Amino acid sequence: MLTLSGAVLATNASKGDTKRQLFSLSTNPNLPSPIKSQKAFLVSSGNEVSDGFRHYIVFNVKPERLPNEAPYTIVGDEFRYFGDKDVVAIGNGRIRCLYRASSSHNSILLTEQCNNYCLMCSQPPKRVSDPWLLEEALELIRLIPRETQSLGITGGEPTLLGDGLIELLRLTRNWLPHTSVHLLSNGRAFADAQFAKKYAAVSHHDLMLGIPVYSCDPTRHDYVVQARGAFDETIRGILNLKQLNQRVEIRVVIHKQTYQGLLDLAEFIARNLLFVDHVALMGLETTGFTRANMDALWIDPAEYKGELGKTVRKLRNYGIRASVYNHPLCLVNSDAEQCYVKSISDWKNEYAPECTMCSRRNECGGFFLSGIQYGYSKHITPFP
Ligand code: SF4
Repeated sequence: MLTLSGAVLATNASKGDTKRQLFSLSTNPNLPSPIKSQKAFLVSSGNEVSDGFRHYIVFNVKPERLPNEAPYTIVGDEFRYFGDKDVVAIGNGRIRCLYRASSSHNSILLTEQCNNYCLMCSQPPKRVSDPWLLEEALELIRLIPRETQSLGITGGEPTLLGDGLIELLRLTRNWLPHTSVHLLSNGRAFADAQFAKKYAAVSHHDLMLGIPVYSCDPTRHDYVVQARGAFDETIRGILNLKQLNQRVEIRVVIHKQTYQGLLDLAEFIARNLLFVDHVALMGLETTGFTRANMDALWIDPAEYKGELGKTVRKLRNYGIRASVYNHPLCLVNSDAEQCYVKSISDWKNEYAPECTMCSRRNECGGFFLSGIQYGYSKHITPFP
């Protein structure tokens, strides 16, 4: 697992200078001066160092070779994966990696606030004002390379930012014209037709909204998200969005509270929301609130793989595009395998000791690191 943030070892930024700065990284000492002056140069032993960069990021020791008076930050070896065109934030004695050019799993956290309180939330909401996250995101978008293929936007609940979210989407449309964007939201804000219209008016070239629906039973959905009335708002939101031709993906996290209703939910989607663009059937991540609610949530995927297979078949029979995310390949039946996606983000992806001998490891998404740490299925069976 990659370390995405941590304390810096040393910096020559003046004491009391707590201002956070974002840098796009470079390993090329021969960039034109105007570009150098906007970038941070990655210094490691042996590479050529030239002057004129806005900042220098140095691994472990400060080489004598740095230009005089150059601003620098020394970081530990856990950040050796930093590369060209990555984007980092430095401030308050810490460094955070915000974007990795070599990864297809980049996402931007817009807020830690949420109006749901899901039993299995992987990013537990905080009741703190965090407008700096949006400010940082607006700056970050301008530093992300234009050739980026995909980008996630997540929270908390991004729609709580209202017009701030709309502004960010517009900026993303303008600065990243080749990038597909996947926005995660509980969808409740789109029950407000005016907000749905503002969202649609962004006219983004490639934007998908991922909205969770956990059950066709409103009471059960509201229980899972711990918010009364959420189901009605979410469904009205989806209907408003589809009326405006917006792309919507329904996301279902499968656990002890939802697996028995999977088939009924598929039927509900087919009868009432046939026009959605995608249904993602997702395994549970053992992090955040899930760890506190393990007894209420954890079920071995081996126990619901029959249900999962039937759900995939039903959705496909109705012509709905479906995918199975976040599951070990040996725990899905052949009917679900055709929709199987190796989906776990690279920086938190792990394999179990049993996987060493598996002939299909390359096709398998494996586990979340937290799953390996806190317990996983007893039915892992390596392919011969
Ligand atoms: S044994 Fe491991 S690598 Fe093979 S399918 Fe199962 S989880 Fe995946």
